[in-house]
Amino acid sequence: MKIIAIIIITILSLNINAQDFTSTFEKGSLRIDYIHSATHNDEIISLDEFYHEPFWGGSEVNLIDTFNYGYYKFEMTDSLSGKLLYSRGYSTLCAEWTHTPEAISNWRSFSESIIMPFPRKSVIVNIYKRNKKQDWVKLSSILVNPNNYMINPIQKTKIKAFKIHDSGSPSKKLDIVILAEGYTEMEMQKFMKDAQRFTDTLLSWSPFNSHSHNINVWAVPTVSKESGTDIPGDGIYKNTYFDSHFYTFNVERYINTVKNVTIRDAAANAPYDQIYILVNTDKYGGAGIYNFYSICTADDPYSGFVFCHEFGHAFAGLADEYYSSGVSGENYYDLSKEPWEPNITTLVNFDSKWKSSINKNTKIPTEIDPNGENPLGAYEGGGYVEKGVYRPQVDCSMKSILHDEFCPVCTKAIEELLNYYSK
Ligand SMILES: [Zn+2]
Repeated sequence: MKIIAIIIITILSLNINAQDFTSTFEKGSLRIDYIHSATHNDEIISLDEFYHEPFWGGSEVNLIDTFNYGYYKFEMTDSLSGKLLYSRGYSTLCAEWTHTPEAISNWRSFSESIIMPFPRKSVIVNIYKRNKKQDWVKLSSILVNPNNYMINPIQKTKIKAFKIHDSGSPSKKLDIVILAEGYTEMEMQKFMKDAQRFTDTLLSWSPFNSHSHNINVWAVPTVSKESGTDIPGDGIYKNTYFDSHFYTFNVERYINTVKNVTIRDAAANAPYDQIYILVNTDKYGGAGIYNFYSICTADDPYSGFVFCHEFGHAFAGLADEYYSSGVSGENYYDLSKEPWEPNITTLVNFDSKWKSSINKNTKIPTEIDPNGENPLGAYEGGGYVEKGVYRPQVDCSMKSILHDEFCPVCTKAIEELLNYYSK
């Protein structure tokens, strides 16, 4: 009887939530583009444009971000009642740039976008960043009247999206849109095959394999004039759709693109929660930034591993668990604070992480067992430094590219997000 009552209450509350969604939001999404300018110590956000895009790929029930990951977050509230309608955490390439030596004495600007369901009434969208104490500080406050004629309803770049893994309604699935980069018209069949190959890889990888029925994957065949990508260190520059390049922040394998508007315009051809840019080259490289995008090269022998690793960053906010890499990550994490990423700890507030999952006989910090035992613990080394940052197990896909398994802590973080998107 109790079970039936709980089921009825659950169904009723879901119905109320669904009604709430359609009474609060219109079809499609509100996209706000802005320019993010920063130095190591300062940053400002300046508005660029508003769009009413055709699809909303996110949940219609889970609208408030409960994870608290990311260096930034935005909140949409009703402008009259102040009720919180939608929120989401994210990170940016700009935030990474502020850790480079160049940022100590220079400003640089990056285009960024935030996307939310399209509101029926006026809303306030606040953008926050974490300060050095990890507290949220408001960076910008934007009043949006949905009837404002400056909200552009025209989709600028119409490209047919192909659904290459179909599990059902986007509102109850994680939707990944794969964009083609450095594929010419003649190479579009290759792109479709590559997109399918990486989809199959991701969906065979634990824990995605047991949630494949909750994932949709779309492919958008964006055509480049030339094949490949820029390799500035070798003097190679190609005319490609997203103008991607290796050598981001002087790290050879770090491939990125700063053409945010072009990326968002292309992605708008499908309902999406995550953007993946697939680059047509056999050179090793990739990047993944939380709720921003993932990017990976298609034809390196390790590309399948890189594809899943980068998605760990972009989808679940996972940190790199490695510490000997040539990445200029010294002082990337403040050792006197607990980082927000779920899979590393400074032990400053280990209770907020995976401490309760550790066997009480396992010592913290945990030494590597010479006999090859690999219990869950806190192993020193991670987040680009050998000392002061700890990881959950000896190895994980977030540590070694050749390790084809996420550790239990990363697995749990991924599963929690998969469940969040699947409601
Ligand atoms: Zn891990």
